[in-house]
Amino acid sequence: MSGVIVTRGLVKRFGRLRAVDGIDLDVRAGDIYGFLGANGSGKTTTVRMLLGLVLPTSGEIELLGGRMPRAGRRVLPRVGSLIEGPAAYGHLSGRENLALLDASGPGGSWRTRRQRIAEVLDQVGLAGVGRRPVKAYSLGMRQRLGLAAALLRRPELLVLDEPTNGLDPQGIAEVRELLLDLHRGGTTVFLSSHLLAEVEQLCSRVGVLDRGRLVLQDQMATLTAPTGATVVHTPTPDRVRATLDGRVTAIDGERVIVRGDDPAEVNALLVGAGVPVTGLALQRPTLEQVVLTATGASSDRVEADR
Ligand code: ATP
Repeated sequence: MSGVIVTRGLVKRFGRLRAVDGIDLDVRAGDIYGFLGANGSGKTTTVRMLLGLVLPTSGEIELLGGRMPRAGRRVLPRVGSLIEGPAAYGHLSGRENLALLDASGPGGSWRTRRQRIAEVLDQVGLAGVGRRPVKAYSLGMRQRLGLAAALLRRPELLVLDEPTNGLDPQGIAEVRELLLDLHRGGTTVFLSSHLLAEVEQLCSRVGVLDRGRLVLQDQMATLTAPTGATVVHTPTPDRVRATLDGRVTAIDGERVIVRGDDPAEVNALLVGAGVPVTGLALQRPTLEQVVLTATGASSDRVEADR
């Protein structure tokens, strides 16, 4: 096995429930990997196993080239992580919490460590909160502090469980920018989410978990590649059908699907025949359509019949 995160036949059972049911994850250097799944599909359990916080029932995990949990002591210092409701001391400020975490780190002068703490607080948008104790933080601020802690040691891999949980839309956009920025700097990012739109906007690779099973794993570009058809928007769909004789495969209001992957050619034919065209594009499936197909639209009966 090689890669940044690789699992083989990974299983976690809780009594009779197979919360994670034989998954083969393949996360590569440079990915922003979106681990999608409905609530209860097994994402958190998987993330906990990856980080050695929970032992698998069976299967193998390799993290940055080391077998987990055995290699944890060696590889985990190179991994930044954030899982479910980051822990922090409520009576201390964010800065003080980070200083405590950092004290167990690899050293450096007090001044460089203080500087690094200021840097990560700034990166997550908490620079201005100063001495306020963490117990006065909103959920979103706690989440940011958790992210700051994950960034402290400049990890080469970030493993984040629902990183935008509790954030408002502006906070979500900021975290997205931050992750893209880190990614540009060479960090591999693995994040779990139940939000399709979040993953679609951010991720280069996607894995979809459905009731413990990995039902899909591929590059985003491949999943949402053009279908070979062209979408024409027009106020006169019937005239498009008449003009393109047999090439129209579907009409949905003012949206007409035409066989053929050359919009310019379709446009030339329609304009030549005097048919008004208000929009023209290659047809691509949305991530939502891809996921619904892969899960058999079962995403909201997650806990059924196991
Ligand atoms: P969410 O987004 O709601 O956190 P998830 O995809 O992270 O969901 P998990 O938390 O991994 O899902 O849970 C997967 C399944 O395993 C659920 O049915 C959950 O109830 C069950 N489960 C998780 N932890 C335990 C545990 N310690 N004991 C028993 N069952 C558990």
